[in-house]
Amino acid sequence: MTDTDHLVMWLREAMDAATQRAEAAATETSSAEWEYQERGTLNITSPPGFVVAAVDYLDPAPGKFMADNDPAAVLRRIAANRKLLDDLLGEKHQVVEGDCWYTCAAAAEERDGGETCDDSRLGKPCDCGRDARVARRVLLLAEGWGWSEGEQR
Ligand SMILES: [Zn+2]
Repeated sequence: MTDTDHLVMWLREAMDAATQRAEAAATETSSAEWEYQERGTLNITSPPGFVVAAVDYLDPAPGKFMADNDPAAVLRRIAANRKLLDDLLGEKHQVVEGDCWYTCAAAAEERDGGETCDDSRLGKPCDCGRDARVARRVLLLAEGWGWSEGEQR
């Protein structure tokens, strides 16, 4: 298993845990959508009236921030991040039509639509840059989820 594979597992677990927390918060308050009320409360939007929390700070910023990060917003971001992760992982290795000699060493017929005809490279690590790009992008995505070098992989 590669470092990227471990990172993908970590990311999917983090997304699953965040999904559970957002869904539990929505269930507990009976709504995924919350709005900040000028009188200093965070309320569900439908049906109106239920108070999620009193957020009566001097400045409305904390209350507005909480409303901006209600369960519906969190679940939207998680869904988009899952699609982004799948999109990143779906990138194919380079296949050079017409001159398979230059096709990536890691390209596979089934996955990428071709493979190198250079038997000395066939099945060796990626030499088209795809794996490095995917690793870098998955790492950037994971950092947004709180992953750091100190995390266990
Ligand atoms: Zn490659």
